[in-house]
Amino acid sequence: MPTSDLTTLQKLLITPQKIIITTHHKPDGDAMGSSLAMYHYLKQKGHQVHLITPTDYPNFLHWMPGNDDVIIYTESISKAHELLDESDLIFCLDFNALSRINDLGHYIKQVTAKKIMIDHHLEPEGFENYRLWDIRACATAELVYQFITEIMDDNRLINEIIATCLYVGIISDSGSFRFPNTRPVVHRIAADLMEKGAKNGEIHQLLFENSTEQRLRFLGFCLHEKLEIKPNLHTALITVSKNEIEAYKITTGDTEGIVNFALSIKDIKMAAFIVERSDMVKLSLRSIGDVPVNEICSKYFNGGGHKNAAGGNSTESLERTIQKFHSILPEFSAYLQ
Ligand code: 5GP
Ligand code: MN
Repeated sequence: MPTSDLTTLQKLLITPQKIIITTHHKPDGDAMGSSLAMYHYLKQKGHQVHLITPTDYPNFLHWMPGNDDVIIYTESISKAHELLDESDLIFCLDFNALSRINDLGHYIKQVTAKKIMIDHHLEPEGFENYRLWDIRACATAELVYQFITEIMDDNRLINEIIATCLYVGIISDSGSFRFPNTRPVVHRIAADLMEKGAKNGEIHQLLFENSTEQRLRFLGFCLHEKLEIKPNLHTALITVSKNEIEAYKITTGDTEGIVNFALSIKDIKMAAFIVERSDMVKLSLRSIGDVPVNEICSKYFNGGGHKNAAGGNSTESLERTIQKFHSILPEFSAYLQ
């Protein structure tokens, strides 16, 4: 049974340990921000630490401190297995089910190292030995801040590098402090991180004003050609085929955030971005207020997430997936009035 009593873990961390940090498939700003912050913190404490991501991640995160040390599992499988075999502890950040990390999850399941899950998503699977789990947290980075400052009592060890990584995590998952998950404490943490050296303006610029020309033209194409609105159900969707992705030379991370443009339309309560990838169709759903997009994703699209931001996938064709999406809307019409 996983335990929330972290005093044993705290004691374990008094002596140097071999530690692996990992995070979810196609890591986003919170996944990388919280993982790199933990990486720099644990190294500072004298542990031997490696960060292994299940897959590659967006270019707009490559500037982050520690990026060059990241091991991408799909590119270094045997090295990753070796490190996992000899590890004492595995920190699992920003996910709570091993299925979210693909094949890496199967491997982690059978290694003997103790697992620590730090996460803010609903319905944890319970694979871990220790957990720091709170769905109120705006980001896993907020929980890593809590881990360092409260559980480890190490606020003074948060330097500019760690502060920057945590700040990236928080602004990525709170929509730069505008989503409802932004509790007052999030601003207090952000203020502390700025005092420790996180540069608000510079970080925003590196994350959000670093687009390639291709990506911006692709966004224009999505909004002009691919946006569909269902006014009666207050729903907007953008669907993109594999050919269109290839025509615009779209890479990991280039589609991130496009769904929010659809949600920004007046009176729209739910937005979907449905994209055909090489091995599956991926859905990203966002909503305002009570519309439970996590329920839609878990019930119909093998996924989950938060009430207002969730994702899933389908192994059916793009056309059939779009049809399915349309066909389930009436079930949620009470939320979409
Ligand atoms: P995104 O739409 O940006 O890929 O993901 C939005 C949210 O939904 C994130 O919190 C993410 O963790 C969750 N999510 C995305 N895809 C999946 C999925 O396939 N399974 C589950 N359980 N959650 C997902
Ligand atoms: Mn997160």
